[in-house]
Amino acid sequence: MSLITEQLIREKWVVYGSMGRLPRGRRPAFLQLNERRAILALDLRPAVSTIAVANVNGQFLERQTIQTPENPESAAKVFSDRILRLMADHPELLFEGIGVVIPGRYDEKRARVVFAPNLKWPEFDLKAPLEAATGLSVKMENAANACVLAEVWFAQATTRNLLAVTVSEGLGVGVFIDGHLLHSANGMAGEFGHIPLEPSGPLCGCGTRGCWEVYASNWAALRFYGGSSRANGPSFQDLLSLAMGGDLHALRALDHMAQEIGRGMRMIISALSPEEIVFVGEFTRLWDRMGPIIERFVKESVLIGKPPRVRPASAEPSVARLRGTIAMVLQEYFGFGIERKLGAPRLLRKPRSKKTGVRAISF
Ligand SMILES: [Zn+2]
Repeated sequence: MSLITEQLIREKWVVYGSMGRLPRGRRPAFLQLNERRAILALDLRPAVSTIAVANVNGQFLERQTIQTPENPESAAKVFSDRILRLMADHPELLFEGIGVVIPGRYDEKRARVVFAPNLKWPEFDLKAPLEAATGLSVKMENAANACVLAEVWFAQATTRNLLAVTVSEGLGVGVFIDGHLLHSANGMAGEFGHIPLEPSGPLCGCGTRGCWEVYASNWAALRFYGGSSRANGPSFQDLLSLAMGGDLHALRALDHMAQEIGRGMRMIISALSPEEIVFVGEFTRLWDRMGPIIERFVKESVLIGKPPRVRPASAEPSVARLRGTIAMVLQEYFGFGIERKLGAPRLLRKPRSKKTGVRAISF
């Protein structure tokens, strides 16, 4: 243990903190994670994206929103510039890497974002241009997968079978089964949002009709409210505020959305048999009303045994996604992955970083 500690201190992951007290003998020094080690987090979303600086404890030192550029080329330029400015603004920090959460799937093998229908961009590579511009390593991950990582690293997830259902402009599912985050071929595992529930339903961004997400997303709720025009109608935040103010029409639209989220539960529960389902999205601000509706569908969806626990994410949606990026970057360094937290140690992996020489360490 002391060898590991020495290495962590040498590599500046851990620093000495305050001194403890014992009845006799040398006073022990407490160790703590080095808060000067920082991570840049980018939450890429269709309209407005967020860039943040966070320390390794998951605390945000700075957060900025930014209009999402119209195409991947200008996005690479705009995001790189903003990241370089943030790095210059924080010369006291040691930046470990950049974690990017995307509203799509990431094909690790080809290093490309491959499926992001709500961005309406073609396949693109954001990793290489960001790495070239900043000199930092970049980790990309789907938003729902990032939320799974956030729950396992920073929250009280105690199960090895957890799903994160993220509901925003679209609907994604992050699948953590038997202690593994599922990516599969092309990184496409978990696209339940694009399974058609009604073949003659509204057209989805993926080109198919009647996908689960066209009934259960934020945009669907706005449609239920009555405005089909996204540009002129209320935003989803407006809809939530109206509902919280008691507007019956808004409440009915959100009840409808909750039922549609519930309608997909049979599909994911039958396919994956999770023990816990965590919901992420602005709608969870109305969890007291919408949660019980979803829970009813969950109970009705179970074939045998106990229904999975259902709850909103432990952090508000934007924080959940951003925290996921911290877990993504840390996971690269502490190669044991997320399994350590769940009591299933794995063999050490080979060194991942030539830059710092940080080795995978088993605690
Ligand atoms: Zn679809």
